Amino acid sequence: MTTKNNRPPLPRSLQKKRKMNIIIRIALCCLLFALFLVIVIMWGERIFPMPRFSPKSFVAVQISCYILFMTLPFLITGVPMKLIDSSWSGIVSNVEVKQSVGTYWRTLGRFNVYDKQALILTIKKDDGKSAKHTATSVGEALKNTMGILSAKTDLPNQGKITDHINDFKAGDRVHKYYGFKYLYIAPSAEGDQKRCIVCGHNNDNQRAKCLNCYCDLL
Ligand SMILES: [Zn+2]
Repeated sequence: MTTKNNRPPLPRSLQKKRKMNIIIRIALCCLLFALFLVIVIMWGERIFPMPRFSPKSFVAVQISCYILFMTLPFLITGVPMKLIDSSWSGIVSNVEVKQSVGTYWRTLGRFNVYDKQALILTIKKDDGKSAKHTATSVGEALKNTMGILSAKTDLPNQGKITDHINDFKAGDRVHKYYGFKYLYIAPSAEGDQKRCIVCGHNNDNQRAKCLNCYCDLL
């Protein structure tokens, strides 16, 4: 069953997953906010001490420090920035590989740099607007396929973008689902692979669940 534009409906399990993700994110934000508030009330004077014989204007500086400190829970959990998202559909008009410099953990507290490559799509959305979308970057591909721990010892870029370069081509119809990072590509030919919208892994067309993250496929 499909809706208009052949946009597949989101499976119930993924709707549930999305709801849980949002709830967890907001709950974590509230928890951190409460924790930070207690810290400010209990130890605020010690963390941001008032100088002796402080001028009255310093109170403003101190209050600003408190306010900045209290925005940290929002920055850490991404509320509401990461919750502002939307569902849309469109057609890929251009695919390009962008090269930049990325960093990854080598050993605790040490960063290494590597050549980061990202697959950038230009998409003409159904509402007429044109948008750029990062479909895959090799750092992410590594995190999803090998786990974050392996990033500490291995260079996260062993030509991995080549695994994804053929994921998209101009003319592909793509669907973005609110709360999910990866685009779904409408299959155009027999034997096309199915892309997981949770982790970006390409799966065999016959599969019902993703081989990488075991989530339901569209
Ligand atoms: Zn997956």
